[in-house]
Amino acid sequence: ATMPPLLSAIANAGRHGVLVKSAVVMERLGQVDAVALDKTGTLTEGMPRVTDVVPLPGTGLGKRELLTLAAAAEHPSEHPLARAVVEAARARDLAVPTARGFRSTPGVGVTATVGEHVVAVGTPARLLNGTSGASAGPARTDRHGASVAASPVTTREAAGRAAASLVARLEAGGRTAVPVVVDGVPAGVLGIADRLRPDAAVTVAALAALTGTRPMLLTGDNARAAARLAGEAGIEDVRAGLLPEDKVAAVRERQDAGRRVLVVGDGVNDAPALAAAHTGVAMGRAGSDLALETADAVIVRDELAAVPAVVALSRRARRLVV
Ligand code: ADP
Ligand code: MG
Repeated sequence: ATMPPLLSAIANAGRHGVLVKSAVVMERLGQVDAVALDKTGTLTEGMPRVTDVVPLPGTGLGKRELLTLAAAAEHPSEHPLARAVVEAARARDLAVPTARGFRSTPGVGVTATVGEHVVAVGTPARLLNGTSGASAGPARTDRHGASVAASPVTTREAAGRAAASLVARLEAGGRTAVPVVVDGVPAGVLGIADRLRPDAAVTVAALAALTGTRPMLLTGDNARAAARLAGEAGIEDVRAGLLPEDKVAAVRERQDAGRRVLVVGDGVNDAPALAAAHTGVAMGRAGSDLALETADAVIVRDELAAVPAVVALSRRARRLVV
């Protein structure tokens, strides 16, 4: 007995390490003519490392205390950055207390109560809002950062400025800068770095060839880190600082222009865009449960290059169907 082409294509996709959820999805994969890729965990390996732990002077916190508070707040989160923070604390043998009242906002960060303190960890644009020189602003010089670091920080505003300056310095170095705010006052900044997947550039090139359009990058991360990574991957169209609904808007904009957009993502923050896409594909290994449920197909074997492979499989199967 011969299997219908779409079903054998699904079996073939399975051999490529991709779980395609239905024959309809198998067919739709080959129809896409535009691609939107998430950054953290999709274009990157999703195994970020904490590279810098910088408490602000005047807070009375050392590196270990700052990292302990951040790790306690991040512990319940499944975000790759959260795992990096928790892992950094573990590697330093820090005793991380259990936090209470954990809340997480996709694309923004987390808050929790640690001991007597309310700790927020997340994106500079939100956490340092209202303080001058937020992360979107022009890079501040080392000279400025150094002078800030030399003087004790006493007020909330000065702490905000010092943190923003640190953020700019870390981002200029290609890091994702993550402020830690304790009881409403910036207490320090963590620098986190993630590596591009080894197959990111070939995947981008293959998807461009298959669809006839250059893939775009949609990320909640800062513009500087995003641009740097996109450059390495061969992506020109970069949209940074996006909230989950902004990712949806970017996808809709393309679809309203008549495109059928393939979205590839891994996070809770990607789920709405995965749902809005013509076809949504989730990275399975470290992907969030919500992303895996929402996506039409799941990359089980953690190879980004499987995405163009299944698009090509679908095209072949459809040629056999018609
Ligand atoms: P991406 O779109 O690249 O996958 P996310 O939307 O998940 O990134 O996160 C966007 C930004 O929000 C991160 O770069 C970080 O600044 C912040 N953020 C989100 N979740 C967390 C978290 N758990 N801890 C620290 N920062 C976070
Ligand atoms: Mg992600």
